[in-house]
Amino acid sequence: MTIRRLPEAVINRIAAGEVVERPASAVKELVENSIDAGATRVDVTVKDGGRTLISVLDDGQGMTADDLELAVERHATSKLPGDDLSRIDTLGFRGEALPSIGAVSRLSITGRTAESETAWTITVEGGRKSSPRPSAHPPGTRVEVRDLFYATPARLKFLKSPRTELEHASEAINRLAMAYPGIAFSLSDGDRQRIRLAAAEGDPFPARLARLGAIMGREFEDNALAIDAEREGIRLTGHIGLPTLNRGNAARQFLFVNGRPVRDKLLYGAVRGAYRDFLASDRYPLLALFLDIPTDAIDVNVHPAKTEVRFRDPGLVRGLIVGALLGALAGAGHRASSTVADAALGAFKPGPGGLPRAGPPPSGLAETAAQFQAPLPGPEAPPPAPDEAAEPGDYPLGVARAQLHATYVLAQTADGIVIVDQHAAHERLVHERIKAALDREGVARQVLLIPEVVELDEAAAGRLKARFGELAELGLVIESFGPSTVVVRETPALLGETDVAGLVRDLADDLAEFDEALSLKDRLGDVAATMACHGSVRAGRRLNAAEMNALLRQMEATPHSGQCSHGRPTYVELKLADIEKLFGRR
Ligand code: ADP
Ligand code: MG
Repeated sequence: MTIRRLPEAVINRIAAGEVVERPASAVKELVENSIDAGATRVDVTVKDGGRTLISVLDDGQGMTADDLELAVERHATSKLPGDDLSRIDTLGFRGEALPSIGAVSRLSITGRTAESETAWTITVEGGRKSSPRPSAHPPGTRVEVRDLFYATPARLKFLKSPRTELEHASEAINRLAMAYPGIAFSLSDGDRQRIRLAAAEGDPFPARLARLGAIMGREFEDNALAIDAEREGIRLTGHIGLPTLNRGNAARQFLFVNGRPVRDKLLYGAVRGAYRDFLASDRYPLLALFLDIPTDAIDVNVHPAKTEVRFRDPGLVRGLIVGALLGALAGAGHRASSTVADAALGAFKPGPGGLPRAGPPPSGLAETAAQFQAPLPGPEAPPPAPDEAAEPGDYPLGVARAQLHATYVLAQTADGIVIVDQHAAHERLVHERIKAALDREGVARQVLLIPEVVELDEAAAGRLKARFGELAELGLVIESFGPSTVVVRETPALLGETDVAGLVRDLADDLAEFDEALSLKDRLGDVAATMACHGSVRAGRRLNAAEMNALLRQMEATPHSGQCSHGRPTYVELKLADIEKLFGRR
């Protein structure tokens, strides 16, 4: 065995494995450098998802020829004054990004300081650097990364489609842009401008809200509560969405510590805790929260990508967040509930394709209702819908006697009671029915009399667009309508009346989490769950006796109906014997 020191180029390539996971990580590092350099505007170009070119141009302090030579050396930084790792107030400090990027690409950096007559350019190719040569450039810095990962083919293979990589890069820029509203940012893919954020001036709170609105949408700006709290030198500011503005995943929750975007379990947990009483556990509020902590009360030197932090006193941070959010949400109680009431009223308005609340359905709607109550095909066709006189003993899940809290169906069986979670049960039925329909002739659709126009962001619209064909197979016919807007023309008939916009937004969110290689059919459980969430039997909808009994009969006829697509039970049964025990009768 011979132990030897690895050559510098190999060391840098190893570091690159951690620092530059994908093109978006290089974009993040370079934009962070521009911010640290005091730039007032940062213009990014990402071609072919960053595979052929990443270019970052800023008007920051620039670099001299000597700076350039050092900047591409490993562990060379201008940012750790006094070598004190407990006082980090810049985004960078490891001196690792440029050498790492240079080790796996063709890197060129051009810099000019305000005092300098000329600009200088240095290049690094697969780890080998040139000497700086004079060039022409305005004050500031331009970094160009070409052929990323050409030197590490293994990493190249893991790159996703250019569209996906561009989306990640765009996300990285947006995250940083939220924390620095005073800096203008842009992103171009070479053909089109993908991000254009003007510097937001004026008071910090409105400026930041304007920037957040520009990124997260007007909807957020209109439904946000300002947060400003402090405890023992730790300050929490930002904006949180009303609970009624929520999504199916945490992708719109942005957390920052000292201006650094972080993904931190402790912080997400605190947010979840604060919203617990306002929101179902599988729904996520939109928010952007900024913690400002004395630098010696945190450790940011946890991971090369610098997206994790450790807090000296996690309990204090958690308490601060939960307290501040609860206070804001409680104060907004009326505002939140009025929007919920509006939404609920809206859902009951008679409209195209809607289920009637009472009486026989008028013609045209009959089909919708029949679709919902139609038996599943197969050998175990359910018995005819029971009338009020049906005997509980006739059916395993009994006869519906009441609906409680507009969420639970209470049924009497021959020897006990059954409580059904109508929403979970419906989710399962939708799942099984889509599956059965796909095996046969396809999922029946209903045409919306008035096509629904849904505003999204460009990334979300793009994700949907890539899946239009598959979604149509599942009964959802969507078309493009401009870069960030879609039009929904048909919905799966078995959903009954649907909150179309909510459904489409949530599906777009889901798609962000699905592996591109998987078909929607592979993720049918999740798609069905999302669809069922917006279908006619969601929790909170009152069901009449016939509807409740239809639900019970369908459950009996449907395989796997005892649990929802996520493993929670759809009903619980209490035998009379158990109830008698409860009351000490046995
Ligand atoms: P770090 O940011 O951790 O210091 P980097 O490898 O990212 O390490 O950058 C090395 C050094 O190069 C920085 O400390 C900084 O002095 C200089 N530098 C990098 N990018 C820029 C830029 N856009 N403008 C001015 N200086 C820069
Ligand atoms: Mg850096």
